[in-house]
Amino acid sequence: MSDLIFDLIEQEKKRQTEGLELIASENYVSDDVMRAMGSVLTNKYAEGLPGKRYYGGCEIVDIIENETRNRLKELFNAEWVNVQPHSGAQANAAVMLACLNAGDSILGFDLSHGGHLTHGSPVNFSGKFYKAHFYGVNETSGRIDMNVVEEKAKATQPKLIICGASAYSRDWEYAEFRRIADSVGALLLADISHPAGLIARGLLNDPLEHCHIVTSTTHKTLRGPRGGVIMMGKDFENPWGIKTPKGVTRMMSAILDSGVFPGTQGGPLEHVIASKGVAFGEALTEEYFNYTLQVVKNASILANTLVEMGYNLISSGTDNHCMLIDLRNKDVTGKDAEKALEFAHITVNKNMVPFDDKSPFVTSGIRIGTPAITTRGLLDTDMPRLASLIDRVITNYENEDTLIKVKSEVNDWMSNYPLFSL
Ligand SMILES: *Cc1c(COP(=O)(O)O)cnc(C)c1O
Repeated sequence: MSDLIFDLIEQEKKRQTEGLELIASENYVSDDVMRAMGSVLTNKYAEGLPGKRYYGGCEIVDIIENETRNRLKELFNAEWVNVQPHSGAQANAAVMLACLNAGDSILGFDLSHGGHLTHGSPVNFSGKFYKAHFYGVNETSGRIDMNVVEEKAKATQPKLIICGASAYSRDWEYAEFRRIADSVGALLLADISHPAGLIARGLLNDPLEHCHIVTSTTHKTLRGPRGGVIMMGKDFENPWGIKTPKGVTRMMSAILDSGVFPGTQGGPLEHVIASKGVAFGEALTEEYFNYTLQVVKNASILANTLVEMGYNLISSGTDNHCMLIDLRNKDVTGKDAEKALEFAHITVNKNMVPFDDKSPFVTSGIRIGTPAITTRGLLDTDMPRLASLIDRVITNYENEDTLIKVKSEVNDWMSNYPLFSL
């Protein structure tokens, strides 16, 4: 087929294959995950849930969606799940629509400290429809101070407290968050979009035991297709006393389901749901468990090596798959570092650091993650080499000769790690 779009897809495949992918939110899916996504299921309308659809011909997609739901339940030991959200942002929108009224207060992690847009940013629906308040990290420790979370909760009386982040390298104290949420009568949501895979396999604290609701993406550490999910460790009666027409108190699961459809979405993407199912099946294997162990090991070694080289990591290290580097002592902005690294085929993203004095377009930091390079096959012994390539670029970010040399070294190195057979 000679369509420009397919030529461009091949170019993108080449880019992904030749470079070092260090964006903390990215990963490489398996051929099977990709195959399910590119299937005839994209042709099917299936508004509603398995067994309760608004369209005919859903008998097979019903089985697929149920199988996907069961695999996700097994993976997280969840009593209830919804696998239809098109993305992480959609999952959060559905939960907020289901649990809040316009104008209610919410309390989330500050975007400029590592939080996510959908946790109350003024440019996002969550900051436009709800009154958003934030907690952040302690300036010295780089960690969330639970006393501050409690003070903010008492002062702002939120209806919903959100834990979870896009650039936070430490684990979360979900039990403590729950104690605080209960003390102000708030619902507690954990958005585990980033560390979901590590949580699923028991490497980090389990939010499902403590949080009312958990949302996630499926395409970050979980290594599935681009998408979202909502889960509950345990279903419960809705706290607002909303009853069905028959006078039965509605369960939270029903309220969340209707937050997805018809609340915020139309027809589910059954090809993506099938692909999520394939990815959840993979995530249940021993091989994936070993992958998650290696992701954390690689991140920890890379972080320690960078610290030894004089880099300032927020909170001085990592418990998970990512790290946030404050580049102010290296006299380079996040923007310039990202650009130089990109030139050398090392992909990262510029990122605000806590208490940043630069704009989100410039920033003082970069965020680095190990999920993609670990899928690629890099191991402990590769991390010092990776750190020194990053360091060469950052300390020579204006020296084109050095950048060209690093780029060819990166390309040579990656040619030993084939990707994709499709
Ligand atoms: C990535 C992310 C999201 C959004 O996911 P999309 O699929 O890009 O909409 C939501 N919350 C957190 C914490 C994230 O890191």
